[in-house]
Amino acid sequence: STEPQRLRWPVHVEVRLKSRSTSRFETIRTHVQAWITSFDRINLSSSLDGWEDVPELAASVERIVTSESACPSQSLSVDEMALQIHVYQPCESDAFEEFSNSTNEDDDETMAATVRELPNRSWEGLWDSLIYEDNIKLKLLDYIHATLVFSDAEVDFNLVSWNRVVLLHGPPGTGKTSLCRALAQKLSIRLSQRYSHARLLEINSHSLFSKWFSESGKLVQRLFSSISELADEEDAFLVVLIDEVESLTAARASAMAGTEPSDGLRVVNALLTQLDKLKHRKNVLVMSTSNLVKAIDSAFVDRADIVQYVDLPPREAVYEILRTSLCEIINRGIVSSTNVPSLQEALIYERTAPAHSSTMISNGSDAHEKSKLLGLRLLTLATQCKAQKMSGRALRRLPVLALARYIGAGSIISSDNTEIKGRTKVNGSTGS
Ligand code: ADP
Repeated sequence: STEPQRLRWPVHVEVRLKSRSTSRFETIRTHVQAWITSFDRINLSSSLDGWEDVPELAASVERIVTSESACPSQSLSVDEMALQIHVYQPCESDAFEEFSNSTNEDDDETMAATVRELPNRSWEGLWDSLIYEDNIKLKLLDYIHATLVFSDAEVDFNLVSWNRVVLLHGPPGTGKTSLCRALAQKLSIRLSQRYSHARLLEINSHSLFSKWFSESGKLVQRLFSSISELADEEDAFLVVLIDEVESLTAARASAMAGTEPSDGLRVVNALLTQLDKLKHRKNVLVMSTSNLVKAIDSAFVDRADIVQYVDLPPREAVYEILRTSLCEIINRGIVSSTNVPSLQEALIYERTAPAHSSTMISNGSDAHEKSKLLGLRLLTLATQCKAQKMSGRALRRLPVLALARYIGAGSIISSDNTEIKGRTKVNGSTGS
C-alpha cells in the first residue's frame, strides 16, 4: 500500500497486581488496553490514575505506571504509541534457596549461591531509586532487547555471536550490585509474556573461590550443573549474578605465584568453560560486577559483550539522590512537609539567584521562597558531596547521620526550612 508509515514510540506500561488478586493476567491486560486507548494522550514516565473507576481493575490492580521510554516528549497521543502492557504480580516472599558449597557434612557451610523468584516485592522501586547519567539503565535494557531480537530471528552463531555477559565495574558503593538486581527485576516484568517464571541466581564469588582451590574446581562444576538444570526450564528466564568477579583473578594470580599452580587455573578455566556453554541458552543472562576491572582476568573481560563503567555520581545525580532521600523522610513524617524542588527547578533558581543566597536563613513564610532556598541549599550540599567523592551508598545514609546529629544536639526545630518533628521516635522514646 502507499499509506505512509507512521512512527510509533514503544511505550511500556507496567501493571502491578495486588498480592491477593487471582485475576488472569490476560484479562487484566485487555482491560488496561481498553482503558488506556480511551484517552487522547498519556503522560510518559508517570503513574497513571483513574483506573480505580474501572471495576475489574480496581479489584485487582495496585499500580499502573508508564516506564522509561526513548521518546523525548513528555506525553504522547494514543495513536503515536506502540503500547506494551506488562502485567505482573511480585513474589511476596524474600525467601531464597541456597546452594551450599560444602561437599561433606562436617564442613562449615558457606553459601555459594542464592536463588530468588522474580519479580520480587522487595526489589520494587529499586530500579527507579538508582540514578545515573548517560542513560546507563536504558542502554543495558536496550542491549538485552537486541539479544532477544537476534535470538528470536535464530541468527547463525557462527556469523554473529554474543555471550550474554554484562560486566559493570567502578568504585565501591556506586550501585552496581543493586543495578544488576534491578535490571533482573525489570526484565522479569518486561519478559513476563515470554517466560512464565524468572529467577535471579547470585553467586558469592568469595565463598566460591576463597576456600580450597582443589575443592573450588568441583564447586564450580556443581554450581553450573545446578544452573543448567534451572536453565533447562525453557519457560523460565534466569539471570546469573557474579558479584565481585575479581576474586576469580585471585585464583589465577595465586596460580601464577606458584602457590597452587594447577588448582587455581583449573578453577578459572572451569568457570570460563561453563560460561561459554551458557551462551547458547536463550533464557540466560550473566551479569557481573567488579570494583577493580584491572584485576579481572582478561579472559573474562573478553567474554563480556558490555563492559560498563559505573562512576561516582555527578553533582546532578547527587542532587537527585539527596532529593529522593529527603522526600522519603518527609513522606514518612520524620521531617515536616516542605516542597522539595526538582533538579530542573533548582538549577533555574541557581542561575537566577544572587551568589551566597543559599546560606541565607529564611524566616519568611512564603512557601515558594522556602522551597527555593531549600533547592539552593541542596545544590550546595550536592557540590560539597561531589567534591568529597561520595558514593551513592554514602549519600543514602546521610539522612540517618543528619538526624542523629539533630537528636544529639537536642534541637527539634532547625533554623531553616527542615524541621524535625517532636514525634520522631528513637529507641522507643520520643525524640527530643
Ligand atoms: P556496589 O555494588 O557498586 O558496591 P551497591 O549496589 O551495593 O553498590 O549499592 C549500595 C547502595 O547505594 C544502593 O542500594 C543504593 O541505595 C545506593 N546507591 C549507590 N549508587 C547509587 C546511585 N547511582 N543512585 C542511587 N542510589 C545509589
